[in-house]
Amino acid sequence: MIEENLKVVHENIRKACIRSGRDVEDVTLICVSKTKPNEDILEAYRCGERIMGENKVQEMVAKYETLPKDIQWHMIGHLQRNKVKYLIGTSALIHSVDSIRLANQIELEAKKKNAVVDILVQVNISQEATKFGLNQNEAIQMIHDISRDCSHLRIHGLMTIPPYTEDAETNRGYFRELRELSQQIESLHLDNVSMKELSMGMTGDYEVAVEEGATLVRVGTGIFGNRVYI
Ligand SMILES: *Cc1c(COP(=O)(O)O)cnc(C)c1O
Repeated sequence: MIEENLKVVHENIRKACIRSGRDVEDVTLICVSKTKPNEDILEAYRCGERIMGENKVQEMVAKYETLPKDIQWHMIGHLQRNKVKYLIGTSALIHSVDSIRLANQIELEAKKKNAVVDILVQVNISQEATKFGLNQNEAIQMIHDISRDCSHLRIHGLMTIPPYTEDAETNRGYFRELRELSQQIESLHLDNVSMKELSMGMTGDYEVAVEEGATLVRVGTGIFGNRVYI
C-alpha cells in the first residue's frame, strides 16, 4: 500500500512539475510519519525515502533513535521552548519557527552545543486565527532580527499551512503569496538568510503547491493512510 501510494505521489509531483515548467529535482518529498509505527516508516525507507516529517519532539526523537541513521527528520509541528534542546543534532530542519522567543531558544541551545541549526520561518499566510505562524510583516521583522542576533541559525526559507480544503485551488493564492513574500525577503540579501526552500503543500493540495513553487511538500495521509489518534 505504502509503496503504491509513494509511486502515485511521486508521479503527481512529476506531472505538476511538467505543467509548471519546473525541474522535478527541485521538489523534495517529506513523508509525514507522525503517529505512524516504525514498520510503516521502514516500508517507505525501503522504497528509497529518506526524509520524514514529525510534529512531536518526543515521538521524533524516539524514532530517530531506533530507525536508520540516514533518515533525515524534519520537525514540522508547533514547538515548545523547553523541548528545543532535544532537536539539536537530531532534526535536520525545523520548519516551524514562529516566534522570536523560540528562535532565541534555538540559538541558545545551538550555541551550547556549538551547532548550526537549519530552520524555516512559519508564516500564517491565510491569517487563520487557529493556526500558528507570523503574519508577513512580523516574519520580515523576525528574519531581520535572527540574521542580526542569532549566529547559530541558518534560515533556508518559509513554511505555511493553509486552511484545510476539499478544493486545492482555493489555496493557490496563499501558495503564491508565500512565494512572493520569499522573493521579497531574498531581495534584502540578509546574512545567513536564503529563501531557497518553500515548504508548502499537504495531501490535499501538494500538486497546486508544486505548481506555485513548493520545494518541500509534506505528505502524510497520501502515503501512510489515515491517522488514528489515541
Ligand atoms: C500532519 C501534517 C502534514 C501532513 O498532512 P496530510 O494531510 O496527512 O498530508 C503536513 N504538514 C504539517 C505541518 C502537518 O502537521
